Formats: sequence, C-alpha cells, structure tokens
Amino acid sequence: MDTQILSGKVVSASVYKGLKSRIVKLKTNSITPCLAVVLIGDDAPSHVYVKNKTKKFASLNLNSETIKLTNETSENALLEIINNLNNDNKYHGILVQLPLPNHINNETIINAIDPKKDVDGFNPVNLGRLAAGRPSFIPCTPKGIMRVFEYYKIDLSNKHVVVVGRSNIVGRPISILTSLKRKYSNATTTICHSGTKNISYFTKQADIVILALGSPEYLKGNDIKEGAVVIDVGINRVKSQTKTGYKLLGDCEFSSINGKASCISPVPGGIGPMTIAMLVENTIEAAEKSANFAL
Ligand code: NDP
Repeated sequence: MDTQILSGKVVSASVYKGLKSRIVKLKTNSITPCLAVVLIGDDAPSHVYVKNKTKKFASLNLNSETIKLTNETSENALLEIINNLNNDNKYHGILVQLPLPNHINNETIINAIDPKKDVDGFNPVNLGRLAAGRPSFIPCTPKGIMRVFEYYKIDLSNKHVVVVGRSNIVGRPISILTSLKRKYSNATTTICHSGTKNISYFTKQADIVILALGSPEYLKGNDIKEGAVVIDVGINRVKSQTKTGYKLLGDCEFSSINGKASCISPVPGGIGPMTIAMLVENTIEAAEKSANFAL
C-alpha cells in the first residue's frame, strides 16, 4: 500500500495564509499580537522549542518576548512574574515553557495564568471548557492534529481512534476532541496509558492511532491494521553519530509502518509545525478577544 505523508509543513503553511487577513485587521487597529514566553533553566530541547516559536512570530511580524530565568528561580518569584504579565495589556498570550524545575509545582503555575491569556490551553478553566464542548483555548498540539485531519479530509465519524498517552498536553485533550459531536470528530475513542494491558490489542483494532507517549519507535507495523492512519506526536532525542550528537525519532517505527498504514504524520515535519501554527493562531485569537473583535 502507498502510505500518504501527512505534512505538517503543508498544513501549517495554509494556516498561516489564512491568518494573514486577521493579522492585517489587528494591525490596522494598532494591535500587534504579542506573546510572552517564560523560559526557566537550561533544558536544551526547551531552548530549541522556544527559539523556533519566537522565530515564527518574528517571521510573521508578530511580537514575542522571552523572559529567561535561572533554574534557581523560586515558585513565588515566578508567580509574581506571571501576575505582572496577566495585568499587562501589552501581552495577549502567556506561555510558560515546560518542564519546570522540580521545586516548582506545574499545576500552581498553570493555574496562575489568566485563562484569557492561556494560549497553551493548559489552565483547568480552558481544559474544562474543552471537555464540556464549549469554545476555549485548545491546547496547540491536539488542535493542530485536528487541523491535519480536516486538511486531508480524514473524517473520524464512525471510526475507532486509539490514543496512546493521557497527558493534559496531548493525550487527554485529543481524546476529548476526537470524540466531540462535531464535523471531522465524532469518533469512538479509546485512551491507552501505562495502566493498559496489551496496548497492541487496541492499536490493531484502530482506524486511527494517535501516539503521544514519548517512547522511541514504540509502535511497529505489526501493531496496526492494514490501512490505519497513524499520527505520531512523539519527539524523542536519541544519541547518534550526527553533528548534533542526537537524532529525532517519533513514537512509531516509520520503516515498518510505511507501506502498511494509509497515512502517517512523520517526525520531524508532522505534528511539530502544527503545534507552532496553533500557538500563533491562539495568540491572534487572544488579541482579537482583547479588542472585542468578532471572530
Ligand atoms: P508525558 O510524559 O506527559 O505523557 C506521556 C503519556 O504516555 C502518559 O500518559 C504515560 O502514561 C504514557 N506512557 C508513557 N510510556 C508509556 C508506555 N510505555 N506504555 C503506555 N503508556 C505510556 O508526555 P507528553 O504528553 O507531554 O508528550 C508525549 C510525547 O509527545 C513526547 O515525546 C513529547 O516530546 C511529544 N510532544 C510533541 C509535541 C509536538 O509538537 N509534536 C508537543 C508536545 C509533546 P501514565 O499517564 O500512566 O504515566
């Protein structure tokens, strides 16, 4: 079987094209969407992610400011910074890059971000609204996955979706989105995790498998049925003899899935670019809402 590549580069390009007129409208009204990024410590992948995000904002003539803090920053100091960002009209969106150092409680920080500026969609207010099927800031990666389905006209209705991973960032929200009674959704969704016995029993039945567990090449060709759609969210840095000393692998083994699946999102170039595109879109939406623009 010829496996189609679901290109996040192609889909994100169409998203940016669609956002142009919204950016122009905001700028005509003297509003330039602005994202505040809080980056703590020296986690190398986090620095790369933040660099990629801010580069994209600059290329679209949008503003972003990175507040770099040391690993020793206290939880209280971080809360004060977030409070200042919440109250500063200059910033439409706030993103705190995860993971945080161990002495800082993720939940406390995420809860402190004003839901109206929570462009990552991790605040429980936004996650709760998502679960209730009401408009909210939807976490960027799951929102981006849904856009890929829409772009490639992969309708989930009457399909069985199996999600592996249940984090609040990817697995849980995508399991909600795929099962909402909405166009391109409406699937029967099963969510697997470390408490699931024999995960391949489920993935073999799936019409669509979404992998978000963070385990390199976890899913093999033998774990899916012929013609399944595979969405690979995983980004795993694995040591290699390359210039950087590592290579990026997804959560599925591309070589054995290719030729058996009908479609696959590659790593890199699949869901990664969609995550950034949805961050841009959410920030524009936050700026529009702050100005009471009709969406
Ligand atoms: P988390 O570590 O927060 O969650 C991983 C989830 O997978 C957990 O629910 C965990 O189960 C489950 N899990 C882990 N290992 C296994 C296993 N062997 N069998 C069954 N379940 C397992 O990760 P994230 O959700 O934040 O990220 C997942 C992956 O996606 C990572 O590789 C990350 O780098 C990548 N990612 C990519 C993005 C992109 O833009 N492409 C954006 C965000 C993440 P349990 O709950 O029981 O612990």
